[in-house]
Amino acid sequence: MNTTTQTDTLKRVKQILENYLVDKKLRKTPERFALLEAIYTRDDHFDAETLYVEMKMKNYKVSRATVYNTLDILQECKLVIKHQFGSKLARYEKSFGYQQHDHLICVECNKILEFCDPRIRNIQSMVEDIYGFKIDSHSLNFYGTCSEDCAERQRRKER
Ligand SMILES: [Zn+2]
Ligand SMILES: [Zn+2]
Repeated sequence: MNTTTQTDTLKRVKQILENYLVDKKLRKTPERFALLEAIYTRDDHFDAETLYVEMKMKNYKVSRATVYNTLDILQECKLVIKHQFGSKLARYEKSFGYQQHDHLICVECNKILEFCDPRIRNIQSMVEDIYGFKIDSHSLNFYGTCSEDCAERQRRKER
C-alpha cells in the first residue's frame, strides 16, 4: 500500500469508528483511535496480547481490557476480522479495503499464508440459492506444512 492510500484508509476507518461510537453513545477515547491506527499499520494476523505489548512499548496507557473491548467494537463495525486458527489464540486482522481471502496455516512453524480464489464466492452464491440462505461471512482454513523443511519435521514426529 502506498502512503497516500494508507493515509486515506486511516482517515476513512477513523470516521467509521467515530460514527459507530457516536451512534452507540460510547466514549471517543484517544486510546480507541490509537489502537485502530496501530492495527491499520500492521500487515499480519496478530493476537490481542501482541497488540497490547505494542501499545505499551509506544507508551500508551491502555489496559488489556481496553484492547479486548476495542477489538470487539472494531469487529462490530467490520473494521477487524477475528479468526480462530486451530485451537490457538484468536487472531485478528484489519478488513477495511482489504481483499476477502482465505488462509493456509502451517502446523509446524505457525506461518499463515493468504490466498484468494473467486470460485469460493461462486460456491457461496450457489449455496445461497439452493438453501435460500443469506451468507454474511465465511471462514476457510487449510492446515498443513508450508515447506519441505516443515513437512520433514512433521514426518520425523510421526515416526
Ligand atoms: Zn512451516
Ligand atoms: Zn488474512
